[in-house]
Amino acid sequence: MADHQKRGWPAGSRMEMMNMPPVIDIDRCTHCGLCADMCSEDVFYGSQKKEVPVVSYPKECWHCNACVNVCPVEGAISLRIPLPMLVCYK
Ligand code: SF4
Ligand code: SF4
Repeated sequence: MADHQKRGWPAGSRMEMMNMPPVIDIDRCTHCGLCADMCSEDVFYGSQKKEVPVVSYPKECWHCNACVNVCPVEGAISLRIPLPMLVCYK
């Protein structure tokens, strides 16, 4: 079952499109865990040290970009900003 289905959001619904958590490039990620430590929400809840962080609670992401800013590896983690929110970002 897809994650959005577990959380009750219909595929393609407005809520699903508004929630776009970060994406980790597993080939670039060095498993440092800084992004999981930095996140003030439970987005990476349950992630283990020295492993690629897991996005456990995507709907908790509020697109603050802190996880991207703290990552020491260019391109290892990236944020996708929902279209309606793009006006708030440079
Ligand atoms: S901060 Fe970057 S390199 Fe470190 S675990 Fe997160 S995505 Fe991987
Ligand atoms: S953008 Fe902010 S809220 Fe979302 S996962 Fe990264 S640190 Fe957490």
